[in-house]
Amino acid sequence: MSSTKTIGIIGGGQLGQMMAISAIYMGHKVITLDPTADCPSSRVSEVIVAPYDDVDALRQLSDRCDVLTYEFENVDADGLDAVIKDGQLPQGTDLLRISQNRIFEKDFLSNKAQVRVAPYKVVTSSLDLEDIDLSKKYVLKTATGGYDGHGQKVITSADDLEEANALANSAECVLEEFVNFDLEISVIVSGNGKDVTVFPVQENIHRNNILSKTIVPARISDSLAEKAKAMAVKIAEQLNLSGTLCVEMFATADDIIVNEIAPRPHNSGHYSIEACDFSQFDTHILGVLGAPLPAIHLHTSAVMLNVLGQHVEVAERYVTENPSAHLHMYGKLEAKHNRKMGHVTLFSDEPDNVVEFGKGIDF
Ligand code: AMP
Repeated sequence: MSSTKTIGIIGGGQLGQMMAISAIYMGHKVITLDPTADCPSSRVSEVIVAPYDDVDALRQLSDRCDVLTYEFENVDADGLDAVIKDGQLPQGTDLLRISQNRIFEKDFLSNKAQVRVAPYKVVTSSLDLEDIDLSKKYVLKTATGGYDGHGQKVITSADDLEEANALANSAECVLEEFVNFDLEISVIVSGNGKDVTVFPVQENIHRNNILSKTIVPARISDSLAEKAKAMAVKIAEQLNLSGTLCVEMFATADDIIVNEIAPRPHNSGHYSIEACDFSQFDTHILGVLGAPLPAIHLHTSAVMLNVLGQHVEVAERYVTENPSAHLHMYGKLEAKHNRKMGHVTLFSDEPDNVVEFGKGIDF
């Protein structure tokens, strides 16, 4: 029997493309589903061109593939349930439902996985904001549909309530206490339905709510790093995880607080392509195929810089001046402002000396 599988990926952006590249190196065939014929994954795979929630297209993908996976969490879970065959989607659709809704997500993290999250309450209308203690600071987030800081309102005083009330009346929300963190970190963990493997802790620097720079290993104590990894493993085990998951967290002076999970490879894990012996995409493919997972070894300290639309020329010049920097371009044709066009990974243990593209220029 051939060990070559056909893997169907819902979503043909950069994450789908990098998953496909890993799968191809392992000898598999890939078909992606994406609304855009010229999407990043089209450089390396056949594309079924259709909207993500097109049930006929999902069925076609399911009929032609041994295993299905997705590159992002906003996939139509019901549509997928209607077409998948037994065992064809090892990640399952429950994980999608949890990560699509902050109310389910917080409940899962705090009650099932029993990891620490910021104190929160569910808000169904502005009435739920009437009695909040304004000596504390909060973040109000819509339960669904928010991304990169959209659908959020920080509440620091009564002046913020008008906007917060409007947000609370427009959609179900969660109100979280504001965490005075030292660093934002994330941990990538992969599972094969039985065992898990975990990556080093990543330190993430955002600008305008978009990831700008990832530093590995994160500059936190060994004990906090071990704690963060143990929390990611606990979450993965509670999910019987298949494939790769990213756990985003806050590191305070003496503790780790989980913010959210993304059930897929993550921008903050891209450094693993060069800096680890197996990347987050390799372990994703191994995991969804139920194959044994390797322990992850970080060869050297690394820094990843995102290349947004406005940074393309600067980044291309940078790598000609720094030949050991690894440039990845995703093959997107239009370099729009703030659109993720590529990334650069460098080996460096002086992360402060690695300056983000466009720092102090764009924003
Ligand atoms: P999120 O959409 O939950 O990833 O939030 C976007 C960004 O808002 C995070 O990367 C943090 O910088 C900030 N943020 C979110 N929740 C909190 C919180 N409870 N306390 C402090 N900052 C937060």
